Amino acid sequence: MKALLDALRQAGNAAILPHKSADGDAIASALALGKLLESFGVAYTIYTEEPVRTDLAFLGGSFSPMPEDVPSVHTCIAIDCGDIFRLGDRAPIFEKAKCRVVIDHHITNDGFGDINLIVPTAAAAAEIVAELYMASGVSLGKAATTLYTGIVTDTGGFRYANTTAKTHKIAAFLLEAGAESGKVCHQVFEQNSLAKIRLEAAVLHAMTLAHEGRTAVGLVSEALLSETGATDEDTSNLSGVLRTIAGVETGVLLREKDGQIKLSMRTNAFLDAAAVCKALGGGGHARAAGASVDGSLSEWKEKIITIIGEAYGRHS
Ligand code: 5GP
Ligand code: MN
Repeated sequence: MKALLDALRQAGNAAILPHKSADGDAIASALALGKLLESFGVAYTIYTEEPVRTDLAFLGGSFSPMPEDVPSVHTCIAIDCGDIFRLGDRAPIFEKAKCRVVIDHHITNDGFGDINLIVPTAAAAAEIVAELYMASGVSLGKAATTLYTGIVTDTGGFRYANTTAKTHKIAAFLLEAGAESGKVCHQVFEQNSLAKIRLEAAVLHAMTLAHEGRTAVGLVSEALLSETGATDEDTSNLSGVLRTIAGVETGVLLREKDGQIKLSMRTNAFLDAAAVCKALGGGGHARAAGASVDGSLSEWKEKIITIIGEAYGRHS
């Protein structure tokens, strides 16, 4: 952590890259890391793969798309990215930088930077950034609310199995520094667009249960998105909803995206989602993981049921 802080202090200029399809943790940790760099007098730009999700707009901040020419930056930080492919089209910024830094909490991360701070026990990348604030003694200001958002989103409001005593201690540190928890939880959990609710209803209505009710598979076609008026970001929590069905170990959402199938997996108690998704070219955490695969929705519905069935077999 000290070596990383020294490197950040010495950065000439910096680029921060959250993972593509950036979620609350990726955006929050990128924003707070930016503020930390600012306090060190380091100029930085946060590059995102796509426009930031509208439900995260309350966090503020400014983001740049990938420019036509690969920008030359001294220090590039990939944050909340399990592997370099999660940087998408922005990977060249990372590759070209003089000092490449990885800050992450995915167990499947094999350390693709020159400096790697990978803490798989951290519930969120925001936890790690909060620790950087603690270690550097920089005051948090608005970053307290930002980092609290990262933790709340990646732990589902402190409900998921990744939540530890340390998560709560860091959250307490952020609350003491002024994090507006009520506002964050309202924004994150109590605000669904009508289109999102309609999409959820349609997906749950048509879902497939397999393995005697232990596996729930939901499908989102491009057509369903346009019928309901929902956007890709509205699918973000659906695999988690499938997992809440009593008796379900594994919730999987398959959705058509950019000519591929995006697979999002959530497990309850024993199935290693990271291992299953890693074998498909993706990755993630034990209870939440994902991958992008080639093929059709119907083909992958069958395939994933078979793959999960085999994985259960290895557990029994
Ligand atoms: P989600 O299902 O919300 O897209 O992702 C769940 C977790 O798995 C997140 O921590 C996310 O970073 C990770 N993840 C999702 N898709 C991929 C992927 O294609 N590759 C890798 N390495 N990780 C992924
Ligand atoms: Mn994360």
